[in-house]
Amino acid sequence: MEKEIVCPRCNGLGRINCYKHVEDGICFLCEGKGTVTQHEYEQYITTQVKADNNRAKRNAKREAELKATAEKVDKQREERLNKRNQPKPKIEPIEQELYNDDVDKAINHFLEECEK
Ligand SMILES: [Zn+2]
Repeated sequence: MEKEIVCPRCNGLGRINCYKHVEDGICFLCEGKGTVTQHEYEQYITTQVKADNNRAKRNAKREAELKATAEKVDKQREERLNKRNQPKPKIEPIEQELYNDDVDKAINHFLEECEK
């Protein structure tokens, strides 16, 4: 019998919490056994290295997007403060809190991409 190795995907748990909504989170690499064969293990590591590289690229892009959004929000906030500090007595427009939603949306989008 081939040597069994602790599943590198689920760490031998047979389940992955991240995928709870799909098939009750059963690990598709070991099919819930918690172990894989040497061959399966090596195959997984090979594909995983590729996937990690892609993921790193995607994450870097998303981080840049998040940063850009955060910077935009900071700028908006600054502009708002500047406007408020201006001496001319004008009726303040209704405060728009949209900028907070922007950040929330960006962060939620980032988190939703849980280990794809
Ligand atoms: Zn597994």
